Amino acid sequence: MGSVDENLQTLQEKIESACLRAGRDPREVQLVAVSKTRGPEVIAEALEAGQMIFGENRVQEAEPKIEALPGRCRWHLVGHLQSNKARRAVRLFEMIHSVDSLKLAETIARLCEEEGARPQVLIQVSVSGEASKFGIQPEALCESIEAFLELQPLEIVGLMTVPPLGKTAEESRRYFAALRELRERLEQKAGIGLPELSMGMSNDFEIGIEEGATLVRVGSAIFGERK
Ligand SMILES: *Cc1c(COP(=O)(O)O)cnc(C)c1O
Repeated sequence: MGSVDENLQTLQEKIESACLRAGRDPREVQLVAVSKTRGPEVIAEALEAGQMIFGENRVQEAEPKIEALPGRCRWHLVGHLQSNKARRAVRLFEMIHSVDSLKLAETIARLCEEEGARPQVLIQVSVSGEASKFGIQPEALCESIEAFLELQPLEIVGLMTVPPLGKTAEESRRYFAALRELRERLEQKAGIGLPELSMGMSNDFEIGIEEGATLVRVGSAIFGERK
């Protein structure tokens, strides 16, 4: 494992190669550096190296770090959000990747109104249909997409998925392809655009990019293994 700076450079090269393989423009893919469990010093190192977007999975862990770090850091929430933390989340994050129910979306929409905040949101989908913990099932989302889209002033910009645990990178491909296909169905059904697809982590971000990811969420390949 190299330094954070070296790891970020290696990662950017791999992102570019994956884009080339897929005939995509590398500017279409944004790297979210998942900084959960890491202290502000390490995050500052990544910021110095040019990384701007950071992903956290818990509001209470993220809040002190966000306060400690320069305002030019941009923060994304990638982990499950409990509704009692949603008010803080809409204030702290520019994107919430993990909206996994209509009820949570309604809460966030109301809080956006109250707080005057406008984080972009992604709907988290459990494409495997397995009992993976979080995410709305594809069929349920197809039935309720219009209800999501009616929630003013919520800005829904795309979908996110986490494949079932323990899959190899190549095994993730079908889940990523399924998310992309679901996006197409929803766009046609609701007549809207859902440009963002958040899919791919340290072990499978290249597959994610080949299947259309616009956001990859990478932690350990930048910061080392988590304890
Ligand atoms: C921790 C986490 C990641 C990053 O995982 P790595 O394997 O360290 O790259 C990505 N997405 C979510 C939702 C996470 O919780």
